[in-house]
Amino acid sequence: MIIILKENADAAQFDALKDWLTKQNVTLHISEGIQQTIIGLIGDTSHIDLDIIKQFDIVDDVKRIQEPFKNANRKFHPLDTVVQVGSGGVKVGGGGFAVIAGPCSVESEEQIIGIAEAVKKSGANMLRGGAFKPRTSPYSFQGLRAEGLKLLLKAKKATGLPIVTELMDLSQLDLFADVDVIQIGARNMQNFELLKQIGKCDKPILLKRGLANTYQELLMSAEYIMASGNQNVILCERGIRTFETYTRNTLDISAIPALKTLSHLPVIIDPSHAAGIARFVAPLSLAAAAAGADGIIVEVHNNPSCALCDGAQSITPPVFDDLMEKIRHILPFRCQIKA
Ligand code: PEP
Ligand code: MN
Repeated sequence: MIIILKENADAAQFDALKDWLTKQNVTLHISEGIQQTIIGLIGDTSHIDLDIIKQFDIVDDVKRIQEPFKNANRKFHPLDTVVQVGSGGVKVGGGGFAVIAGPCSVESEEQIIGIAEAVKKSGANMLRGGAFKPRTSPYSFQGLRAEGLKLLLKAKKATGLPIVTELMDLSQLDLFADVDVIQIGARNMQNFELLKQIGKCDKPILLKRGLANTYQELLMSAEYIMASGNQNVILCERGIRTFETYTRNTLDISAIPALKTLSHLPVIIDPSHAAGIARFVAPLSLAAAAAGADGIIVEVHNNPSCALCDGAQSITPPVFDDLMEKIRHILPFRCQIKA
């Protein structure tokens, strides 16, 4: 249930309303905007009489909401959430376009620093790189693990780019102290214990949609993180399983307007894992920018044919540079999806 207050609500009446609501055994989630204050009721509201709430003078409207996600719901929080990354002013959401670029996996110091410098020069504002890799085969390269994180931190120091990397298991969390954005990969989207625990830290979380999960399931996973206290969630559509086999996955462009209608959280697109084919990465990225995404996360490799993971979908630094130029042309015309 949500309660919308009249503008400039009287403080004493606001306190009286809060007191009454608290006695109904629900938790209050208060969102104070510049013009409007909204109270979200979390918990079982089936016994609460809407008409009694409407009798409080300061109440403008009361609505029951159907969706089981509350913290992530646009109805509770009409304004876009803007996630602040690191201390250098990088933001995701609220009108900008964030570009996260880098290799699928960190392979060596020379590789990660070289790619970080190149993508920064082209305008990327964050560096990606997997240290702990979720691979379908246990015989495939599993990432450089702790050593990979050290190399990412060296690249961050060398370029100033905030770093985004995947956490697969809570046992790795201590190593992530200097990571700027923790990625929860598609395969872990419904690892609820992991979600609850990362909800207790205050770092931004990049939450990828599972291979065959609905928007509501993705938002419920975001809800796990938010209900544990961390509101800094960035949603990522990375392609879903369909009957089509030509591409690695199918990029669901509808996820952009749909998720941004349902939720105030920023939505970014991963064209690389969606396509699985390097030459499709630019068209999908441009579609994402035009459709109103808050950014993209793109795999860039200096030598894709020798990459230890996902070379076929990795674009080179010159192709990335060209893509950035095209994105800049599209951004002024893109759709803005608001409440
Ligand atoms: C990745 O970004 O490196 C990755 C493994 O992505 P996903 O979880 O979307 O497959
Ligand atoms: Mn990859």
